[in-house]
Amino acid sequence: MAGDRLFRYIVVAAAALIVGACIGLAAAPLPPVPEGGADRDTLFQVSTIDALLQGTYDGSMTFDELARHGDFGIGCGDRLDGELIGVDGEWYLIRVDGRAYPVAGNATTPFAVATFFDSDMTVPIDAPMNLTALESRVQAELPSKNLFYAIRVDGTFPHLVTRSVPAQEKPYPRLADVTANQTVFTFENVTGTAVGFWTPALAKGVNVPGYHLHFITGDRTAGGHVLDMVLAEGTVQVDTTTNFTMALPASGDFWTVDLSGDLSGDLEQVE
Ligand code: ZN
Repeated sequence: MAGDRLFRYIVVAAAALIVGACIGLAAAPLPPVPEGGADRDTLFQVSTIDALLQGTYDGSMTFDELARHGDFGIGCGDRLDGELIGVDGEWYLIRVDGRAYPVAGNATTPFAVATFFDSDMTVPIDAPMNLTALESRVQAELPSKNLFYAIRVDGTFPHLVTRSVPAQEKPYPRLADVTANQTVFTFENVTGTAVGFWTPALAKGVNVPGYHLHFITGDRTAGGHVLDMVLAEGTVQVDTTTNFTMALPASGDFWTVDLSGDLSGDLEQVE
């Protein structure tokens, strides 16, 4: 009967819709909303790299406040006192002695970038590679060159070089003059995690176009701003981030620093 057949079609179509909806839900679960209702796919940034390059080193946001915007990130300490790294919700400053110190919640940062890390893509590392090769390998997988990506590398590193810088006194020197006297640390056969971001060219002057990575050892005792590395084996996870929020300092040197110029030359020196 035509009516029976039509009924069977409706039942089959309805079942297909329900199954499809369930598969869809299983494949793309909605991430839990963090406390405070912050969007997990937002890159949150304090101040701008060009302000930092010109010596705007006074902290403008507490680490307690920063942690409301992410469980993962990088930056630096007040007065440039240490390289900041946040991983799995734990935030550390790698000071000029190379050691990792848990941040005090009421201490401040002059420049930081944070997000809630939810891996969207894993890049398998099937052979040892140096930093340049690793960066090319990951960059080839990025779906667009116009988005922000949080990058997490967990692995074993036969060779890894980091740096940190000491706290600065006013009048603050430019960042390029500070990093000219940076302290460099070399790790051999270390396990740990590199945390950072790939920033699109559209954010030039605001953040560091391309890669910016910080490192912390597996036992969370040492690390710094990554200058070089060889990754023997490990995983690279990438979190695509489509929203971007900036918190500009509400007072201080930021209000008067000249941000109209092109500081690409300075950036090249400090990275
Ligand atoms: Zn850095």
